[in-house]
Amino acid sequence: MDGFEQNSGVIIIAATNRPDVLDPALMRPGRFDRQVVVDRPDVKGREGILRVHTKNIPLADDVVLETLAKGTPGLAGAELANLVNEAALLAARQNDKAVTMHHFEEAKDKVMMGMERKSLIISEKEKKVTSYHEIGHVLVARMLPEADPVHKVTIIPRGRALGLTTYLPIDEKHTYSKGYLEAMITYALGGRAAERLIFKELTTGAGNDIERATELARKMVCEWGMSDKLGPLTYGARDEEIFLGRQITRNRNYSEDTAISIDEEIKKIVTNGMKRAEKILNENLDTLHRLAAALLEREILEGLEIDAIIRGEQLPPVEKRGNGEAAPGKQPAPAADGRAPKK
Ligand code: ZN
Repeated sequence: MDGFEQNSGVIIIAATNRPDVLDPALMRPGRFDRQVVVDRPDVKGREGILRVHTKNIPLADDVVLETLAKGTPGLAGAELANLVNEAALLAARQNDKAVTMHHFEEAKDKVMMGMERKSLIISEKEKKVTSYHEIGHVLVARMLPEADPVHKVTIIPRGRALGLTTYLPIDEKHTYSKGYLEAMITYALGGRAAERLIFKELTTGAGNDIERATELARKMVCEWGMSDKLGPLTYGARDEEIFLGRQITRNRNYSEDTAISIDEEIKKIVTNGMKRAEKILNENLDTLHRLAAALLEREILEGLEIDAIIRGEQLPPVEKRGNGEAAPGKQPAPAADGRAPKK
């Protein structure tokens, strides 16, 4: 930046994902001396981004960008642009004149959960285990008041997963309560709990869930000071203040005794979650069987359908979906976010 006169009126802007590793000489006054953090967009931001990208696309009347924005937490601008593009492609492939909410829903699943892998051959037994596993997540989450509502559950393989349960936060959260985190750990373990309860055996399918639950428990103890026994302390100082970059190393700054206590606390949180999940499933065994049977038959259950089954209602018969098209006679749900439609 040297060489510009004070009064030349040139402003230089640069972007980085790693401000933590920039040379301090770059950041001196007169150089890059202001920093603006551009975070992932919140719900208002996402709505605005969707509005920009759908400007030149014919939208059907049923498209509510606000609903779509609510259903895409965590997506960045490029991913939202991709979502709009996928929805438009889908509409074009089906020779539709306008992009409908249904196209957006399909595109959203593709962007957020990965491509459907219809060619993957799965044995009936494996499908059944996957159904019970996913319903384990669903049922436990439904019975925990602190947990996010279940948006959709599927046993159509996507990406590397054989089945998936998606949740939809009611509102954007920036901080998490202890109760919410414990609920997250509990429903993450719901899949394994269901497998154990029904099939009396363990599969590798729960590996990811267990990893997530353990990681959350570790953060609760080591970073967020949520353990009564270890108190409000940070264990394991980071190498340096890392601003946006990933955490690379952690220094161990505690004794061997504390290390043992930390491990015990993490274990306690995770096993408590497991016990809670097992208790919920045991108490709702009948609902578990009904939900799993419905999922096995339909391969996808939406939030409203899950609610209906839990209430003991029969779902209207639906033909199996194929080729990413809606089953005939089935209208897309009015509220794409899986909660009761608000009018
Ligand atoms: Zn799982």
